[in-house]
Amino acid sequence: MKTAIYPGSFDPVTSGHIDIIERAVKLFDRVYVAAIGNPEKEPFFSLSERVEMLQLSLAKYKKVKVESFDGLLIDYARKKKAATIIRGLRAISDFDYEFQMALANRKLDSKIETIFLMTRGRYAYLSSSMVRQIASFGGDISGMVPKVIERRLSRE
Ligand code: ADP
Repeated sequence: MKTAIYPGSFDPVTSGHIDIIERAVKLFDRVYVAAIGNPEKEPFFSLSERVEMLQLSLAKYKKVKVESFDGLLIDYARKKKAATIIRGLRAISDFDYEFQMALANRKLDSKIETIFLMTRGRYAYLSSSMVRQIASFGGDISGMVPKVIERRLSRE
């Protein structure tokens, strides 16, 4: 059983994240999409809201399990018996931070590999913070997030 973890803040989940998950399920038997309980930046949505939005968006993917975790990603990966961490890349600007994280995680456990999947060009500009900003001013976020999230955000 090939198991991978896709960790993130998912504050909220976007179409860019879903694109990465769709690529991941083609490569792995099980993908844990794991919301970080204690991200470095204070999240806008609570952990339970972020998890709920992921669950709503990912219900149709049978290989995907939505969870959350606190503490070190490597400890969570070991607990799940996952040998792979998935991260998404949008542009060169993601690279520095992602490279540093991947090397730090490798230092902590050399048996767990980080792999990077590249998003579709049309999502290259998309981030959770951009979605939050546009939604907060009542702008149109269609196509930027799954339909269920669009409906939810426009209610707020
Ligand atoms: P984090 O706060 O851990 O960076 P995010 O929820 O912002 O969490 O992102 C999780 C992962 O998904 C990161 O690897 C990020 O680079 C990637 N990602 C975010 N948005 C996109 C996108 N539009 N296309 C591809 N990957 C993305």
